[in-house]
Amino acid sequence: MGDHRGKSLVLVASPFQGHMTPMLQLGGVLHSKGFSITIAHTKLNSPDPSNHPEFAFLPLFDKFLAIDASGNFTKFLEELNENCKMQLQHHLAQKITNEVNQKITIIHDNIMYFAEEVARNLNLPSIVFRSCSACYLPAYLKLPQLHAEGLLPVKDYMLQKLVPELHPLRFKDLPFNNTSTELFKEMLALAERIRTPSAIIWNTIDFLEHSVLTQLRKHYKIPIFDIGPLNEMARCSSTSFLEEDTNCISWLDKQAPRSVIYVSLGSLATMDETELAETAWGLADSKQPFLWVVRPGSVNGSEWIEFLPDGFMEEIKGRGLVLKWVPQKQVLAHAAVGGFWSHCGWNSTLESISKGVPMICRPVMGDQCVNARYLSFIWRVGLELEYLERKVIVNAIRRLLVDDEGKEIRKRAITMKEKVKYSLCKGGSSFNSLNDLVEYIVQDHT
Ligand code: UDP
Repeated sequence: MGDHRGKSLVLVASPFQGHMTPMLQLGGVLHSKGFSITIAHTKLNSPDPSNHPEFAFLPLFDKFLAIDASGNFTKFLEELNENCKMQLQHHLAQKITNEVNQKITIIHDNIMYFAEEVARNLNLPSIVFRSCSACYLPAYLKLPQLHAEGLLPVKDYMLQKLVPELHPLRFKDLPFNNTSTELFKEMLALAERIRTPSAIIWNTIDFLEHSVLTQLRKHYKIPIFDIGPLNEMARCSSTSFLEEDTNCISWLDKQAPRSVIYVSLGSLATMDETELAETAWGLADSKQPFLWVVRPGSVNGSEWIEFLPDGFMEEIKGRGLVLKWVPQKQVLAHAAVGGFWSHCGWNSTLESISKGVPMICRPVMGDQCVNARYLSFIWRVGLELEYLERKVIVNAIRRLLVDDEGKEIRKRAITMKEKVKYSLCKGGSSFNSLNDLVEYIVQDHT
């Protein structure tokens, strides 16, 4: 372990679960390299300091009480950034005055772009942290051009066609292809605003995204440190905003090896009542044991599972478990889990790949669509679930857990898990990249 105690890192986290978790993991990894770590975070969805005694915490008192997924996302981001800017600047200016020998570097979540301005104002080095896949960015950046060419929003007959210059993505895999016009316009506006940072830390692995990382390095001409998967590197305790129901582990202990399908749509995605019913009957009719996370509020118009179809709970007694939130990494590591039906958020993707669990891919929005295409078509460790209909669901679950096709997919998933391990060992790509990052920070690139 190097000792960089003279160097203080301020990690500016965003209030989304899928961003907060890897940021805290990054903090853990850099702390183990000898840096002192401060997590600057919003009051909304703040991490629990008692879970991370090794960090200092700097709360930024934003005025938001909740993330409004149906509201104006750009406006939300703008206000969030505006709210936090002066507080961070004020705090850091004081820190600089009080601790003359401390050298500070800011590492900020890409959506907390105000931190870049603070760094510039105080003449501090800053690095962007990206918690999405690398393959998502070229697709996202292409949106304005496709829009200008009249190809977006995507027309039904175009959905299966390949997008020019974005192999292997089809139009249906583009982020925000099926979203409302309003949200879509906001996303376009954000894509136009992405600036070139001085360096990027990416929670990804070279072997997974080699060609797109090469392309991005060429494009940006700045250091890109691909140091993932952070979920395997950091010894973090819980980073969940919701309470984890650990009863699922003793339930999993009673199930046969590789028999359970684990289902979760992450921390943001929602479904409607019909989708809920189709999912429920698909799981019931598959005749496989299942662990299904239904987040409170994730079914439009309901608090939790009041919209589950009549008779469902009786039907699945002893074979299925429906919970609000679980310790997902532990679940995926459990021998009883044979497959993960996922919305393909990037953390879930990396967590599943790291544990060698094959997937059923049912993306809902944004980067998930891109990740799902890579999982099913390029890495071939997942099956694409084309329609949310009970028969299609039964078919997908049985293909993955029972049929020979599933065995082949599992073999590839296990091979991938081994590759992940190698990338983290001495001499592996992520191991080397992390050392390069430490060097870069120590050298002080103001
Ligand atoms: N997660 C969890 N318990 C659950 C469901 C999800 O701990 O019951 C975690 C999961 O391990 C992952 C994160 O929530 O780290 C979700 O992040 P992801 O990027 O997959 O999706 P997002 O929530 O950003 O859409």
